[in-house]
Amino acid sequence: MVQSAVAQTWTTLAVLDWTTQRFTEAGIAGARLEAQLLLAHVLQCTRTQLYTGFDKPLAEGELAGYRALIKRRLGGEPVAYLLGEHEFWGLPLHVDSNVLVPRPDTETLIEVARAAIADRAAPCRVLDLCTGSGAIALGLAKELPAATVVATDVSPEAVAIAAKNAERNKLADRITVRQGDLFAPVAGETFDLIASNPPYIATAVLATLSAEVRREPVLALDGGADGLVFYDRICAEAPGFLVPGGALVVEHGFDQADTVRERFERAGFTGITLVHDLGKNPRVTWGRRP
Ligand code: SAM
Ligand code: GLN
Repeated sequence: MVQSAVAQTWTTLAVLDWTTQRFTEAGIAGARLEAQLLLAHVLQCTRTQLYTGFDKPLAEGELAGYRALIKRRLGGEPVAYLLGEHEFWGLPLHVDSNVLVPRPDTETLIEVARAAIADRAAPCRVLDLCTGSGAIALGLAKELPAATVVATDVSPEAVAIAAKNAERNKLADRITVRQGDLFAPVAGETFDLIASNPPYIATAVLATLSAEVRREPVLALDGGADGLVFYDRICAEAPGFLVPGGALVVEHGFDQADTVRERFERAGFTGITLVHDLGKNPRVTWGRRP
């Protein structure tokens, strides 16, 4: 791929092999998959279609476009930002550097929150605080067909992206996205379910994160000096925005379960339960307003 003195024909297969090796050397875990995703993006085809033309040489323009993406990926940009797209809970979401790339861990939160609503066919009101790309709001709207969802984020860019994702997935008739600080956009309203994956990284830890995570917005990651400021605020304020029996469900860091539980207890929640993610890490805590 680099300019070489030796003439080489860059077929699809040759390009994928070269990139896989280069990505592997760079410590990228899913090297071949990422190479396929980026090439399919440039060639505007599916990953499977790549292999039907595996011995076809790439056009100069295609190679140039691909080289530019490889360079950015090796520079640490997450593949989801380069594709402009990421799938969460079976929903295609637009993502860019203004929002966190939704994590598989957050699917655990969707499962827990969905189960907290006893009758999925009954109308209910759901609030997703710190919505980012809208991943949780959209996942819950999909799972709870009679729910109306309000999603809030302090970032105007995130609000625009979440609204666009709701439109794109034909869920905009049941999802409202509002800009503002935590509960400020829903003053005076109550909900059956409040869900949130707030920023939860301690400020001092931010600089130690991988190159990919450091490309994500600090606003999406920075949970203050102890990483817990959002749980302090969300747990203290949530009872005022929940109907009696309503549920609060939050995602947190693998080492924050005990302190988050303590905040739930202090705020008077009952039935406080910790749920582990697929990687067996303590990840989601939830409880009900009495
Ligand atoms: N919920 C999304 C997900 O799970 O993929 C995004 C979560 S990201 C960890 C946290 C989000 O909180 C970011 O989109 C950020 O803009 C937003 N945020 C940060 N401070 C906030 C505040 N004071 N009020 C509302 N949202 C805030
Ligand atoms: N899960 C993200 C990470 O691993 C953190 C997201 C958050 O702060 N809520 O960095």
